[in-house]
Amino acid sequence: MLLRPRNWMEACCQKLKLNIDDTEPMKYFICDSWDCVRKERGNLLSTFKNKKCHCGKPMDREISLEERTSENGFVKETASFIICDDLRVMPNSLGTSVDLFHELGAKNMEAIEERTVEIGNKELLDLLKCSFLSKTPLTDFILNKKQFLYVYTKHQCQFEIGEVSSNVIRQMVLKVLIRKSDRKILFVEGQEDFADFIFGFLTLPLGGVLHMLGGFSSYSCLDKLYKSVTELCPYRYLMSPSLKHMLVNPQCAPQFGIYNQILQIGDLPVFYCKSYEKDMKQISVLVNSTKSLRLYGELYKTMDIVDPKSSDGKSNSGGYMVTDDLVVTPILSISGVSYLNRSKVRLSDLEQRVINIGLKECLSILKASLISTSALTNGLEKFIMPDKVLLITCFRSPDFRFVSVTILHIYKYFNPRCNVSLN
Ligand SMILES: [Zn+2]
Repeated sequence: MLLRPRNWMEACCQKLKLNIDDTEPMKYFICDSWDCVRKERGNLLSTFKNKKCHCGKPMDREISLEERTSENGFVKETASFIICDDLRVMPNSLGTSVDLFHELGAKNMEAIEERTVEIGNKELLDLLKCSFLSKTPLTDFILNKKQFLYVYTKHQCQFEIGEVSSNVIRQMVLKVLIRKSDRKILFVEGQEDFADFIFGFLTLPLGGVLHMLGGFSSYSCLDKLYKSVTELCPYRYLMSPSLKHMLVNPQCAPQFGIYNQILQIGDLPVFYCKSYEKDMKQISVLVNSTKSLRLYGELYKTMDIVDPKSSDGKSNSGGYMVTDDLVVTPILSISGVSYLNRSKVRLSDLEQRVINIGLKECLSILKASLISTSALTNGLEKFIMPDKVLLITCFRSPDFRFVSVTILHIYKYFNPRCNVSLN
């Protein structure tokens, strides 16, 4: 499930002219008991064949999902767009074109060349890859320019997260091992919740990550693409307002969300089993919404999804070790020691801290993991700075009217003899 995650919008994507999602459509299974789909509660649905139903029978009967949407693609057939080199998407109009030519410094039409380019799935994948690495993905891709690799100069603001409503109850405890000489996190030790959180990155849809990061992922092209979609009028340019909502706030595919996690992405979809009898046949079909106007004998029952991730009760109580570049291994007493040996770090250069992290820190690690190989050091920087003291200086103008206050953060680490009293 982690290595081949699914797309919860697969029904929409399968109708696209070019679809780079090559996973098989999701299959759903129920047991073959008619009573089990029509009872009041506890009706089970599984995405894996032969899971056991409450009645004891294997869930081996495939049930089809009634087509959720008749929409063909995401945008209206009559709509036309201009897509800029940085993946900004704008409605196509003469005014937009003229503004764009001005922006690009094109003084006359002779400077502009028109080309028709054919693209297939391979080219689409290349374009997707370019959009992670380049600020001009269309130029790089269409003109076959040598890929310009983003050089991410480290500005801490890149990893910062705006205000989030931090839920103090939802916290994880981590033991952090820091190399003092360069204030770098070598690894952290955490429990299952932290390993689940890190593994969960593999199941997140790209649009969902952008939504959680408020549209600021530090991938500038994808941020612009995301912003463009949020600004498009859904009635004029997109198939429906609900489709726009699905694009800017996508959920994990059913069962790919990790319950009880700090990073909650969207709501899990609800499935109902619609069942009725027709021509002496018992018919059941899976749907995502119920209807108030029903045929005689037609029932809609909420289905509980069997969680394929449910454990067998044996857990790794020893916890997990996660390195700065997000290599996750179960903790064995030897793994930390051998890692330290490989890192050639002196014992006197090590510092251990125990920290509590919540939603804000988790988002910061997620953001840092997109553009940095030091996801933990960058994501948890505030926890690894040395103890600091404050120096406050006040300046007063000669006429006693203007006072300025400067607050200096002085880290003991840089000046161990610094001795400031705060009076
Ligand atoms: Zn059953």
